[in-house]
Amino acid sequence: MSGRKYDVIVVGGGPGGLSAAVHLAEKGLKVKVFEKKKLLGKPVRCGEYFPVKEEMVKLLPRVKCIDIIDSPEDAIDSKCKSIRMVSPRGHEFEFPFEAYILDRHVFETHLGDVARSNGADIDVGVQAHYYPEDEGGWVGPTRETADYGEIIVAADGYPSETAERAGLPEREYAGPYAVATNIEYLMTDLGVEQDVAELYMDPRYSPGGYGWIIPKGHGRANVGIGIREPYVRREWQIRDLLTGFIEKNKVAAKRLKGGKTASLIGDSLPVDGPLTRTYTDRVMAIGDAAGMVMPTNGGGIQTAMITGRLAAEAAVRYFEDKTSLSSYEDAWKDQIGAEMENSKKMRQASDRLMGHEFVFDMLLRLMGTRRIADVIMCQVPSGMGTFVHLLA
Ligand SMILES: Cc1cc2nc3c(=O)[nH]c(=O)nc-3n(C[C@H](O)[C@H](O)[C@H](O)COP(=O)(O)OP(=O)(O)OC[C@H]3O[C@@H](n4cnc5c(N)ncnc54)[C@H](O)[C@@H]3O)c2cc1C
Repeated sequence: MSGRKYDVIVVGGGPGGLSAAVHLAEKGLKVKVFEKKKLLGKPVRCGEYFPVKEEMVKLLPRVKCIDIIDSPEDAIDSKCKSIRMVSPRGHEFEFPFEAYILDRHVFETHLGDVARSNGADIDVGVQAHYYPEDEGGWVGPTRETADYGEIIVAADGYPSETAERAGLPEREYAGPYAVATNIEYLMTDLGVEQDVAELYMDPRYSPGGYGWIIPKGHGRANVGIGIREPYVRREWQIRDLLTGFIEKNKVAAKRLKGGKTASLIGDSLPVDGPLTRTYTDRVMAIGDAAGMVMPTNGGGIQTAMITGRLAAEAAVRYFEDKTSLSSYEDAWKDQIGAEMENSKKMRQASDRLMGHEFVFDMLLRLMGTRRIADVIMCQVPSGMGTFVHLLA
């Protein structure tokens, strides 16, 4: 092995890995990112919903690096003012919540440009593997052509080969309730409201998850469903479920009438909260690779960026005075741990009711808009702590 030597190698150039690289390079560390896609952020596999910083301050109030939650104007396709949740029987609950709808290709290209301008090397179109050693390890397409990193950041999404090779409990995570399968069309020629993001609780067409219509401006929207295995009958095909959602959900079908489907994408998403361990002596797992997705809403762009930054800060401390990488896990537990835990509990509680359309619909109506908003925002709704605790 004759590759180059780096302080830190990041496997995966998504929002998490690139945010880590931005900070590491800014602090003067020698950093390399491997990204298997030929273009950063493309093809897009995401609803691209990105709450603005002011909302994230309310959602995750203890995050110290919240200023990184921002986007350049040219990466913003549209802006939403509110979220509207639609219950299984078509009741609507709307509350104000501001978000950007990104063009993730432009967004991630921007993060990549900043990282490069700070001095990071980014190799795109390279599927890299981690070959562990006691002191760091080698990363590259093959062992022979690998580069050496003293610290490795597993930012390769879910499931993470890097985290698994590092001995982190990636495999233990993969229970049927823990992973959602998401599929989404970009639709065009739509007349949907351009400043409201809609979530549909629809056990028929998004069993174990929810459906979404996220407007992208110019009559376009990301339209998708997330499902989980225990709620899906063997004979159901996920593509048919998405078609069913678009054509037969009473409310969504009206909104989407006349629309055309453009590209189709799909991916799996960890929704069981963070891994039980997210670091070793020389490896840290961040973003989806570490299960850092908010279980009640499936949002993971921001938590990937935050954990990427926290891992980078831990690496800086390591190079300053050999501080253990456990400081990374301490930091994310301190800053987002409680919200991730709450969110997981509420997801577990709703798991018990999701399959029962009538009961679930009635519960949502009893809860009302304020409490529904709390659940989506990872807060235990007022007066429901015992209820959530008993069901979870
Ligand atoms: C259909 C869908 C809709 C979603 N909608 C939203 C939404 O609206 N808002 C939101 O906040 N979240 C959403 N999410 C979740 C969000 O996309 C992720 O949580 C977020 O992208 C996580 O960022 P990350 O950097 O951890 O991982 P990723 O974005 O998955 O990035 C990992 C990168 O690693 C690369 N990679 C993987 N293996 C290797 C390898 N061996 N070598 C080199 N590169 C590798 C991949 O190509 C990828 O670019 C959605 C997810 C899906 C599937």
